[in-house]
Amino acid sequence: MQILQGIAVSPGLAIGEALVLDNEGFRIPRRFVNHDAADIELDRWAKSLKAVADQIAENRDQIASELGEEYGAIFAAHLQMLRDPKLNREIQALIKDHQHSAEYAVSKTLKDYAKVFQSLDNRFLAERANDLFDLEKRLLGDLLGQARQELANQEDPAIVLAHNLTPSETARLDPETILGFATEVGGQSDHTAIVAEALEIPAIVGIGGLLTSIVSGDRVIVDGDQGVLIHQPDEETYQRYQNRVRERAELAQELIPLVEQPSETEDGELVKLSANIEFPEEVKSCCDRGADGVGLYRTEFLFLGRDEDPSEEDHYRAYIAVAQALYPRPVVIRTLDLGADKLGREESQQSGERNPFLGVRSIRLSLRNLSLFRTQLRAVLRASALGNMRVMFPMITTLQELRQAKLVLHEVMEDLEEQGTPFDRDLQIGIMVEVPSAVMLLDRFLPEVSFVSIGTNDLTQYALAVDRGNKDVAELYRASDPAVLRLIKMTIDSALARDVPVNLCGQMCGNPLFSMLLIGLGLRSMSVRPSALLEIKQIVRHLNVKDCEEVAENVMAMEGPREIERYLSEELRRRVPKAIARRHHWVQD
Ligand code: PEP
Ligand code: MG
Repeated sequence: MQILQGIAVSPGLAIGEALVLDNEGFRIPRRFVNHDAADIELDRWAKSLKAVADQIAENRDQIASELGEEYGAIFAAHLQMLRDPKLNREIQALIKDHQHSAEYAVSKTLKDYAKVFQSLDNRFLAERANDLFDLEKRLLGDLLGQARQELANQEDPAIVLAHNLTPSETARLDPETILGFATEVGGQSDHTAIVAEALEIPAIVGIGGLLTSIVSGDRVIVDGDQGVLIHQPDEETYQRYQNRVRERAELAQELIPLVEQPSETEDGELVKLSANIEFPEEVKSCCDRGADGVGLYRTEFLFLGRDEDPSEEDHYRAYIAVAQALYPRPVVIRTLDLGADKLGREESQQSGERNPFLGVRSIRLSLRNLSLFRTQLRAVLRASALGNMRVMFPMITTLQELRQAKLVLHEVMEDLEEQGTPFDRDLQIGIMVEVPSAVMLLDRFLPEVSFVSIGTNDLTQYALAVDRGNKDVAELYRASDPAVLRLIKMTIDSALARDVPVNLCGQMCGNPLFSMLLIGLGLRSMSVRPSALLEIKQIVRHLNVKDCEEVAENVMAMEGPREIERYLSEELRRRVPKAIARRHHWVQD
């Protein structure tokens, strides 16, 4: 049994067989071949061995002539490893005697060799493991080159293990067959994580070296609550997890009656609970779980997996489906937040920005691509005639940006008016508060908007200078950092003082750990992933405002995120013992 710690990004548990994707996203099925087919696999292996050896020899000659013999020698060493008769014998034996596919036999044998190198107490030899991974990659590239299978066609239930999954690859995972996933890179709030939450697929990211020891077919457990991946669990661990799966299902059942109950504290204070969605299909789960509306519709996900920009009709159809299903509850459409890791438009990919999170992202991108922006706004406005819609601009940093965005909206309104197309003339306009400058200048923004929504995912990264998608700085990325909490408090205080409704739609809101604190800071409107709605409602119904205010006061006097999280965890355990049974991924030991 091997236990690997990563970053929990989508809660839940999954137990099943690993399906390993190599660095280029190939699938490596264990696929037992029958005796007759073994010859075919042996032949495939022999051909790949030759093709890759030729490739390497060519690289060796080319590099030696361009840079000198000593550089060519790197490839000569690879060639020597590849031509090692022992390696060949072992791979052939796995195919012949164990009926494995050629891909699997290659992957397993080279990984086993690499493990031996890595375990040696010799840095030079340990580094040779990378040469073996390189060889494995070349061989798989050749073997799978023609036979690349789409994950979407996966038929047997599996747990995907990959170096990385992009948000669009994640969006194509079918939750019916993909029970969970884990990746080597990634961070707590990157958009792969957000898609996993939307699909309710348990997920862990940031497990460096994950693919070095696990092969397809191995049994693994993804514990998306605690960010732990267990490889080849022993019997006791396996049984313990089976019990936890059962307990989770029972707890989920217990929450169902809450759908009909109001989201209010013990002392009768209403806390509006809306949902964050990425795909129109999620509206069903919002309705089933009694959401008070959609507090954040991340419309940029309409762009996923498309070669062309969505048309006005594509936008319209998506918005109207959500707005009508939830009517009269409000739906906040956030205009496109493209750029950075969200994908994905060709121009931004090609621009090679050095700091995409600080570059042409979000409202900046919309204001530079006015036809794209207008297309979306036309669709939002047309849908507003039939639903209770609101529009929200993301990543607003300056007043000028807000004014420009409003100007474009008003121009689009005038066009529609001229054409006699109906829309809601009183459409409420709001902004995300997710850049520290917006917090600092909020008193200037507030008179120009109908509502604000705090985006703690970005506010945390921009306040602390920590990339939300980088596992190597994940320790620093904490919404519970006192600096972030002060920014949240300033925003809530400022909005309440001017009677402007304030919501919070960052991921921290879906974490029970923060419910008391946020209510204590005066927040009465939260927007969370649909799967967290009932869990948070259950917590809210066990709290009273006075206690929450006391908790918030204590937290604001504390010095660091660890202390704050520990304290909040204890308070939650004390006041709502049930909540802690579903230990959430943000509650870290
Ligand atoms: C946020 O930044 O907190 C937010 C809700 O937006 P996104 O995660 O889509 O950037
Ligand atoms: Mg954001």
